[in-house]
Amino acid sequence: MADRFYTPDPLPVGEYVLTGPEAHHLATVRRFGPGDRVVLFNGDGHDYPAEVVATDRKRAVLTISPLRAVDRELPFRLEVSAAMPKGDRGDFLVEKLTELGVARFVPLLTARTVVEPRESRLDKLRQLVIEASKQCGRNVLMEVGPLTRWTDYLAATGPGAARFILHPPADGSSEPAGIRQGGSGGIVIAVGPEGGFADEEVAAAEAAGWRRVSLGPRVMRVETAAIAAAAWASIAGRQPPGG
Ligand code: SAH
Repeated sequence: MADRFYTPDPLPVGEYVLTGPEAHHLATVRRFGPGDRVVLFNGDGHDYPAEVVATDRKRAVLTISPLRAVDRELPFRLEVSAAMPKGDRGDFLVEKLTELGVARFVPLLTARTVVEPRESRLDKLRQLVIEASKQCGRNVLMEVGPLTRWTDYLAATGPGAARFILHPPADGSSEPAGIRQGGSGGIVIAVGPEGGFADEEVAAAEAAGWRRVSLGPRVMRVETAAIAAAAWASIAGRQPPGG
């Protein structure tokens, strides 16, 4: 999966000139040259096999072969929202959710959110989605953002999806409630900030039909909880509702 390069451009069969950081990565970092075969992708769900024709410091000229339809997406839509952890832990979260096949990640603004990512930070996270997709073979980019207030998120996330709010059990009980498929709208998982969701925030979600889920008696970091729940959903969600 390593010989993959991203471009936002359409990729019809024939000659294509790759420029910018991806061309630098191809020619200078990975040292691909004439005759080498690579794969381009543009997020439309396909692999575009290509042969390198020529390279220089700024560009790589390639010949694109007919596209290959390869589906590396989950068989259902998985969305994760979370109050962003700080710095590198936020990077880690976005990289891992991309690898797990999450379709959309929404940073949440909750009562106890400390990190409020600006648009420039979200753009950096979108770049990380591209890097992770190059590595893991995804041909559809995980959508990131925008920063959304919890009440707005509840209002916008309708009952078509099976919706779960992660909240550690108050009594320390270890019985995990199940993440599972609900209807055709996929699965949505919400994760709180390090200070946790406020009681009113949990109550508002439950009143809107969200189910509360425990991951056991240990209090996890935001990114651990989000990744564990996404991994759980990625397997449990393959079962049809009631299956
Ligand atoms: N002191 C906070 C802990 C927050 S941990 C509290 O008691 O709520 C950060 C977030 O990760 C939580 O808001 C929750 O969404 C998720 N999380 C961490 N551990 C969890 C667990 N054992 N079960 C369910 N969610 C958990």
